[in-house]
Amino acid sequence: MSLRPLGIDPSRCFIGGAWSPPVAGDTLPLHSPSDGSELCRIARGQADDVDAGVAAAHAALSGPWGRATAAERGRILYKIGQAVLERIDELARLEALDVGKPLKQARADVVALARYMEFYGGAADKLHGETIPYLDGYTVYTLRQPHGVTGHIIPWNYPMQIIGRSVGAALAMGNACVLKPAEEACLTALAFAEIARAAGLPDGALNVVPGLGAEAGAALSGHAGVHHISFTGSVAVGRLIQQAAGRNVVPVTLELGGKSPQLVFDDADLDAAMPFLVNAGVQNAGQTCSASSRILVQRRVYDHVVDRMAERYAALQAGPALSDLDLGPLVSGRQKEIVEGFIGSGADLEMAAQGQIVDDAPPGGAYVAPVLFAGVAPMHRLAQEEIFGPVQVIIPFDSEEEALDIANGTSFGLVASVWTENGARQMRLAKHLRAGQVFLNNYGAGGGVELPFGGTGLSGHGREKGFEALYGFSTLKTVAALHG
Ligand code: NAD
Repeated sequence: MSLRPLGIDPSRCFIGGAWSPPVAGDTLPLHSPSDGSELCRIARGQADDVDAGVAAAHAALSGPWGRATAAERGRILYKIGQAVLERIDELARLEALDVGKPLKQARADVVALARYMEFYGGAADKLHGETIPYLDGYTVYTLRQPHGVTGHIIPWNYPMQIIGRSVGAALAMGNACVLKPAEEACLTALAFAEIARAAGLPDGALNVVPGLGAEAGAALSGHAGVHHISFTGSVAVGRLIQQAAGRNVVPVTLELGGKSPQLVFDDADLDAAMPFLVNAGVQNAGQTCSASSRILVQRRVYDHVVDRMAERYAALQAGPALSDLDLGPLVSGRQKEIVEGFIGSGADLEMAAQGQIVDDAPPGGAYVAPVLFAGVAPMHRLAQEEIFGPVQVIIPFDSEEEALDIANGTSFGLVASVWTENGARQMRLAKHLRAGQVFLNNYGAGGGVELPFGGTGLSGHGREKGFEALYGFSTLKTVAALHG
């Protein structure tokens, strides 16, 4: 695969605006999810490389980036967004090859990345301190300032979207970033760094250190020169990140997993609901933190909903990313094994329908045919644990109260959606559902970058996306002057 047109060298780290070979000289293989072949080798960054990235970020804060006004930062972000859109074909293809997602889904991620840059570019000079009336003889005001160096540790499922929401907001507030992309998919992170440099982002404002989680990731999360950590990934690693950040007493944003329900009541517009019920479970082959893996259906419409979802499932096709079907492969053979293990643990359940893997899918690819289980008990393993694959369970319920208990009955709290025409019920459930986002008669609201996003419980804490993210990526200083 030629990466030359995008100007990236994946066997190197991107530090201080230049491609630096990893200090230890090691590389890792990067495999294609679609056929298992080796795409290229990527840098195996380690603690020394993270040190260099953090040092470059500190240097940027004392250089042109640190001196840029909020409006100048905004203009640079806006230009980066435009440059991203100009490379949409190359970036989408790169993401499809690397992550395994169908091309049209990868294109949507590029558009989202550009939109994040536009949004945060526009927001850069909109958040500011205020004056506070106080005792006679005092003038008191607050300064909204960057943390300094922010660390960003991200997963493989939506690299561009997650870079957009976390790096975009951090740069808008004037931080300098060190990004550790996932070892399974890091190519668009590297391409983005090069695009941003060419669009005018000063050297050192964004540094990228690819490598393994236990090496580069652990070094970044525990680094004493990092002032804030943004982590998106699994609960298990989220716990480690919080502990590491705790040792340095720095704030951390954790965007973790979910087991997000959609509640379908018997007065719902089922025609409108149907595409959302299925798509929210199989988009990106179910490898989405906000995937809707539980469908709760009121008894009177239960059989009807199961039949109609099953019809859609039977028509779903999984195949190579560049074939642009409904689903691509999972990101790796390891992930495929995990998901197949989950499907096996549903042997006691009613499999309502299963999609297909196309005949010409290469044998080395990590393909899983999507599965819909019906009549599942709320406490079944498949209704409690995050699967991170194309598997949905349907759970029947009788009353609103029962639906709420089931919906809130996992350790997660990321997203929930409610399908009903009853306005009072919408308001009651919006208030009582345990989730960071509640959608009424839709799911995901089109992923709008303006909408604050984050979880509660094991889904994490802190908010990214929207204007809200800017509070998380900045700190407030109070200034009180006694002048008589
Ligand atoms: P993961 O936690 O294994 O890896 C995420 C990142 O953390 C990778 O870059 C990895 O290299 C790094 N990492 C691994 N071990 C580390 C360590 N000891 N110290 C520091 N960094 C380390 O997660 P994954 O399997 O890549 O992604 C899937 C998970 O991410 C799912 O649970 C999913 O729900 C979650 N996710 C959440 C969101 C959200 O916004 N809430 C979005 C996408 C994915």
